[in-house]
Amino acid sequence: KTFEELGVSPEIRKAIEEMGYENPMPVQEEVIPYLLGNRNDVVALAQTGTGKTAAFGLPLIQKINVSKRVPQALVLCPTRELCLQIAGDLTDYSKYITDLKILPVYGGSSIDSQIRSLKKGVHIIVATPGRLIDLMERKVAHLETIADVVMDEADEMLNMGFTDSINAILEQVPEDRNTLMFSATMSPEIARIAKTYLHNAKEITI
Ligand code: AMP
Repeated sequence: KTFEELGVSPEIRKAIEEMGYENPMPVQEEVIPYLLGNRNDVVALAQTGTGKTAAFGLPLIQKINVSKRVPQALVLCPTRELCLQIAGDLTDYSKYITDLKILPVYGGSSIDSQIRSLKKGVHIIVATPGRLIDLMERKVAHLETIADVVMDEADEMLNMGFTDSINAILEQVPEDRNTLMFSATMSPEIARIAKTYLHNAKEITI
């Protein structure tokens, strides 16, 4: 299949073609058309390098209503490096979508500039859990308009002790969201989170 056949919009196709993406990778073929539908949860066992960032990133971007300057998608990830990488990839994919704002928020850097950016308004937040909790407690990160939540490298987030933070964050996101979980490994704790927060999830192993 082509990206066009998967339902990817012309603006996004133009950007990814320039990045050298010619054909969808297997995880993208599975996830993209599914996410472009309504209310679709996913648990995917996928390693880094499989193309998972575009698998969740392209549909997230495509579903954003840019004219509403409120957070509509949230990506949670374990580290600052991954946070910056995902935010950078999403920015590249959305090169031809005017005014779409993507904000990485992560610990170990000035919170003030992240607060200023949140106050100006963003569409997609890419966050490490601890810093996001901090911003929620300061009442600058509002999650009540989030329609899609992605947990990337979920097993790593749990290994790093983010379980309580993830639970607290997911409690604040509207229940009728889509929830996606990507993990390199399956464990009882991953299964528990999936059971608690995902509904009729499509299970994919790459
Ligand atoms: P990821 O698993 O998301 O870290 O992606 C692994 C690498 O594959 C990244 O360098 C992506 O830019 C690249 N990539 C993702 N999708 C495609 C595609 N459809 N065609 C070519 N390269 C891709």
